[in-house]
Amino acid sequence: MASTPEKTVRLVLVLLAVGLLLGMARPRVLPPAPIVHGQRPDVVLITIDTLRADAVGFAGNRRAATPVLDRLAAAGRVFPNAHAHNVLTLPSHTNILTGLYPYQHGVRDNSGFRLASSIPTLATVLHAAGYGTGAFIGGFPLDAQFGLNRGFDVYDCRLNRGSGAGGFASAERRGDQVVAAALAWWRQQRAKGRPRFLWVHLFDPHAPYDPPEPFRSRFASNLYLGEVAAADSFLAPLLGPFLDGNAAAAPFVVVTADHGESLGEHGELTHGLFAYEATLKVPLVLWGRSVIPGRDLRPARHIDIFPTVLQAAGVSLPASGVRAYAGRSLLSPAAAAPEDSYFEALSAALDRGWAPLRGVLHRGRKLISLPLPEVYDLERDPREAHNLYGREHARAREVLLALPREPSWPPRRQDLPPESLARLASLGYLASAGGAPVRFGPEDDPKRLIGLERQMHGVVELSSRGRLDAAVRLARDVVARRPQMPIGQRMLAETLLAAGRTQEALAAMEAARRRGAASPELLRQLGLTLAQVGRTAEALAVLGPLAAGGSPQSLDALSLALSQAGRLREAADVARRAIAADPGDARAYQQMGMIELRLGRWNEARDDLRKAVELSPR
Ligand SMILES: [Zn+2]
Repeated sequence: MASTPEKTVRLVLVLLAVGLLLGMARPRVLPPAPIVHGQRPDVVLITIDTLRADAVGFAGNRRAATPVLDRLAAAGRVFPNAHAHNVLTLPSHTNILTGLYPYQHGVRDNSGFRLASSIPTLATVLHAAGYGTGAFIGGFPLDAQFGLNRGFDVYDCRLNRGSGAGGFASAERRGDQVVAAALAWWRQQRAKGRPRFLWVHLFDPHAPYDPPEPFRSRFASNLYLGEVAAADSFLAPLLGPFLDGNAAAAPFVVVTADHGESLGEHGELTHGLFAYEATLKVPLVLWGRSVIPGRDLRPARHIDIFPTVLQAAGVSLPASGVRAYAGRSLLSPAAAAPEDSYFEALSAALDRGWAPLRGVLHRGRKLISLPLPEVYDLERDPREAHNLYGREHARAREVLLALPREPSWPPRRQDLPPESLARLASLGYLASAGGAPVRFGPEDDPKRLIGLERQMHGVVELSSRGRLDAAVRLARDVVARRPQMPIGQRMLAETLLAAGRTQEALAAMEAARRRGAASPELLRQLGLTLAQVGRTAEALAVLGPLAAGGSPQSLDALSLALSQAGRLREAADVARRAIAADPGDARAYQQMGMIELRLGRWNEARDDLRKAVELSPR
């Protein structure tokens, strides 16, 4: 766009005028709550999984039924222009809890990453400041094994695991059970005379959409909104008393979502592939005595929640990393210039070898770095239908070039130590100790691969309806279209196993391994299947190096293979390591109990099996 000096002057004047208007309209923001009698305010963080920014009543959605959240929003401060940095549960919650971008804390996907123990979180910082800390989790991606449990006195992530829910669905706990457990802790903590930090995570709106009555009937034509309405109602026993209660004793409440849901927009059904507004934009509400009610149109980001909560609690940022924190407290007056917001969607790069997606929200534009780059004007084109890259590519390229430089791009999973990778590669189980392609063309752009994405959803859908032979046919088609894609290979193996076609599954997994298209998950499955058919020596050759990574699932698998091989004492040692790695793992206790039985240790067997049933009644 050519600009004459006159135009520039006019533009500057307009910007100044807009700035003044915004300054005048900007509501006054109170300093953080005074800390009386040495008592800091209670803090409640509520994250609702997969909740679109526009799926709530307070965002103007008349079909949605969210009376509890609407009431909180009406009395609180609403940020209608808030964004996540990831479109997946674990990395997004890690951003919220650490106040860091994903490239800073290193958690890039739901599996294969664990938060390093050196990184402070809201829980570790508030705990060190004297808070009692409790987390109540609704979905498996936030299981304690991924490292967000640090700093919590109680990290309750009991889910209905090992319940035969099917290979692809994530284990979850219904929101009313999560809130009931959270409330019990909240009340019991009151007697201890310390301030409380409570984190409640509701998984309900996540697919599959299966709301309980009366929401199932009421939202029969839109089950997603039914799940949202159910989640809202589950929060009533927690939020109702705050809203009705004594304002002076009110906690500081933050409500947000980790990401949204595409619901078919841009061809995407759920979330994780793209970073369009359907999944990147999130609801964000602050409520409490230090919060001035109203709508705050400033851009807000997940990384801003960390400094906001700490300011409300009167606790300073962790000293060692202050310079790393790009976020700013949303209780402070606006900064002079709007801040950029980094985002990424890397699952398809990690699981499938597709081009990695990242970008930045910059002065009202969304810039997406892909082989086929995209630029959108979010105000004029909130549906992101008109790619402006052709018109603005010079400026866009400049902004995208300023994205952080990473030591290796795309990043790699960290679930296996280099020694294990090397050992698996030397045995021919992995193509190389890290074989992801680093050059991507338009054919690797997720926009071009959306048809394949739909096919993969089709495999999951057919499997969940029990149409396993059709699922196998579709999975074979996926593998044929992109044979180097590890997740397609894994889908094929898992559908064959579900259909009871074990020998075909073994052949498919061996073929994937020979091609170098096997992921650690597929290798674990290969090891388990080899053990089941009595090829224990081969099973142990795969599972040994995998388990060296220390993941509870791989340790479970190795323990099973060892016990299959009759090496019961070693099997027991490994099962004990699995339990230590994830004390909430019902399967590990079951496995331990079965080994104890075979060793004739009746009392230990009874205790371990009882524990397994306690953790997962089904
Ligand atoms: Zn999520």
